Amino acid sequence: MNTLKRIDPRRPFTITAEGLRRITLGMTGVAAAMDFAASGSAAHREHARSRRTTAAPQRVLLVAARADRGALDDHARQTLAGAALIADATTEVVLLVFGEFTGDAAELGADKLIELPMFDRRSFAPLDELNALAACVAAYAPAHVFLPDNATGDGDLGRRYAAVANASVATHVVEIDAVHVAAYIHANTAFAVRSLPDVVLLAPNAVEPKLPFVGAGERVVWRFDGEPASTRGTVRDLGIEEIDAAQLALEEADFIVSAGNGVNDVPAFERLAGTLGAAIGASRVAVDDGKFTRDKQIGATGKTVEASVYIAFGISGAVQHLQGIKDCRHVIAVNLDASAPIAKRANLTVIADAQETIAALNEAALAARTARGTGVALLNTTAMAEGALA
Ligand SMILES: Cc1cc2nc3c(=O)[nH]c(=O)nc-3n(C[C@H](O)[C@H](O)[C@H](O)COP(=O)(O)OP(=O)(O)OC[C@H]3O[C@@H](n4cnc5c(N)ncnc54)[C@H](O)[C@@H]3O)c2cc1C
Repeated sequence: MNTLKRIDPRRPFTITAEGLRRITLGMTGVAAAMDFAASGSAAHREHARSRRTTAAPQRVLLVAARADRGALDDHARQTLAGAALIADATTEVVLLVFGEFTGDAAELGADKLIELPMFDRRSFAPLDELNALAACVAAYAPAHVFLPDNATGDGDLGRRYAAVANASVATHVVEIDAVHVAAYIHANTAFAVRSLPDVVLLAPNAVEPKLPFVGAGERVVWRFDGEPASTRGTVRDLGIEEIDAAQLALEEADFIVSAGNGVNDVPAFERLAGTLGAAIGASRVAVDDGKFTRDKQIGATGKTVEASVYIAFGISGAVQHLQGIKDCRHVIAVNLDASAPIAKRANLTVIADAQETIAALNEAALAARTARGTGVALLNTTAMAEGALA
């Protein structure tokens, strides 16, 4: 008797905001239908996790970080998770966000959220941020303050605060628990350990941000009326200089359009990248075919990228390619084949011809440009995509 399991190629599927979802083998009937219904619902998954604590707080851990377009990046989420993981039942985790925050603070482990939307990432106001952090510390008297040790402002803020407040500080922290922190020193040849200091600056990837619990996530109205530093003349903001995305190293690009074997019209694809202000990436096959130079290759034997938006045109999503985009925030796939592996990774999958989609996007960009009456494309596609995926 033939006992081989047959896979029905027409087994049911649905396309959710998270991409293509299939009912997998072994799941039938009600269980499958329930999973199906829940597959697009973050709220459903959320309810499966319980609150970290419901006890009355006696102590506070403060986490401060800047948001980018309404969200915390991985590093900031790891830092928040680190504080939540070492907090005991009577400790409250307060999250102070510089900039607008539209994320779910409870899901990230915060019990309280203080949002300071007046701090825009595009402006440079280190002294205002310092004043705000100091005021927040004065208001909440946290046992410890945590910041991501990054080069985009939070690491600097933590150091400034520690210096001004004469607080103990540990930087580049790679190991943490409720009583100690540790960091590499002497060119990574030694490991320095100390008790938990006042200010902890956490290195990236020291903590797994996926938590087994949720926080209370209470939004707190807290007014910060600091005097703008710029008016005191101490700091002058010279603004942000826009540079051609094509000049940007792929590893630093925030918006990447990437071409695979399914892209034939390379000039149209390159035109689209230029119009959208996106950096260009490619699969190994597209590079091997001579369509793109080797430095554009993304994947295990190419570049690893961390873009907020990654649009993959005609890329199958082989494991070696997916390795290079594992840290991208929103992946959009354009592919003729709904069952291509990229669809499992993608947040949004467009089942369509790459050439037609590229032409349509080029047309839409041109129309937007004409409507604005400007010779320069001003489409903020990153924001559009994020808005659509939020
Ligand atoms: C050791 C090793 C290292 C590797 N390193 C890398 C690496 O760093 N990076 C990398 O990318 N690969 C790497 N590879 C290769 C990898 O395994 C795949 O072969 C490669 O990624 C496939 O590229 P592709 O998706 O562009 O092409 P294909 O596999 O040919 O897929 C093309 C896709 O385009 C779709 N398509 C076709 N026509 C159209 C159309 N008109 N419109 C829309 N969609 C269309 C198809 O449905 C298909 O999904 C490596 C392999 C090995 C063995």
